[in-house]
Amino acid sequence: MEKILADFLEMVQVDAISFDERKVADICLRKLEELGCVDIYEDKAGEKVGGNTGNIFARFPGTLPGSILFSAHMDRMPQGFGIEPVIEDGIVKTKGDTILAADDLGGIAAIFDGIRKLKACGQPHPTVEILLTICEEKGLLGSLHFDYADIKSEISYALDSPGHIGRILIASPHSAKLQVEVFGKAAHAGSEPEKGKSAAVGAAKILANLREGRLDHESTSNFPIVEAGHGATNAVCDYAIIKGEARSIDKQKLMDYIAYFEKHCQETAEAFGVTAKTAWNLGSPGYKVEKDSASVRLISEVFAQMGVEPLPEASGGGMDANRYNAKGIQSVGLATGYFDNHTTNEHVFLDSFLRTGEMVMRTVLEYGKNMEKYKV
Ligand SMILES: [Zn+2]
Repeated sequence: MEKILADFLEMVQVDAISFDERKVADICLRKLEELGCVDIYEDKAGEKVGGNTGNIFARFPGTLPGSILFSAHMDRMPQGFGIEPVIEDGIVKTKGDTILAADDLGGIAAIFDGIRKLKACGQPHPTVEILLTICEEKGLLGSLHFDYADIKSEISYALDSPGHIGRILIASPHSAKLQVEVFGKAAHAGSEPEKGKSAAVGAAKILANLREGRLDHESTSNFPIVEAGHGATNAVCDYAIIKGEARSIDKQKLMDYIAYFEKHCQETAEAFGVTAKTAWNLGSPGYKVEKDSASVRLISEVFAQMGVEPLPEASGGGMDANRYNAKGIQSVGLATGYFDNHTTNEHVFLDSFLRTGEMVMRTVLEYGKNMEKYKV
């Protein structure tokens, strides 16, 4: 069996989850050492987020100047205990009652395989920096608490995206959580309903005319939580709340939508005779890396060498690359062959996955050969 696949299967079969990545982390620490990495350490991020494991950082020392960073996350979604991988017709899947955790142990196995291949090829190469994070699935918490002073690389790749090899996530949305509380007036529903004013109806009017769903090609919003009343039907409803979110690749569009949301809620509530109180907070920062930027040109050159079609696209979600870009380390996400992540249908196409180690190795070699071409 290919070593990348053996590594992957070993890691998915130990139980781990956000805040408890311990067993995967211990395997990673051991493998990094076996691969000949140096400067290996686990940071204190686990303590800061209430978990039992920190982010792991390591370097695979190069014979050329410069370095490049590869990252993946050690935590996984719920329903990730007792994973029994099944290999069938070139696809790795589960028996259907758990996730597979290829998101993102596939990314970790790819990095390990890239280093293994780099060692074996015997060619001069720059240093590889490796960052394996915790709690990515919990709002990128591990990468939030990492100390980036240790990172020397200008370019990084987060091996953490669904799709076949070749998919490059060049953008990820900025996001916000939004809510509106609606205050009406309670009254006995049978004896004097005219003295009341229904917050439930006010909330319904707000939601009925709110622009939501697909807003434009790079913006969305969704308001799936609506609660009203106090569980009794014999009083006019005096309280309701609507909760949702909005996202856009363009931060200004997100801020404009938030302003629209606030105005829409206030005006609709006022017209109906109830009051509205809106609140919102921004999530992790989004990013947009141009197609002609160093990181995209470098990985596109690697895909050309491999005969793989590069597919630069925007991501609908967030990943650690969001934080790296915010910290000034140019970063895009790369697909490693998994699909339907976050579900019990999660599966990996081996024809993509088995080439990800080569992708890592070639990226390091190409960067070393033509570093001046890939200045950020
Ligand atoms: Zn992931």
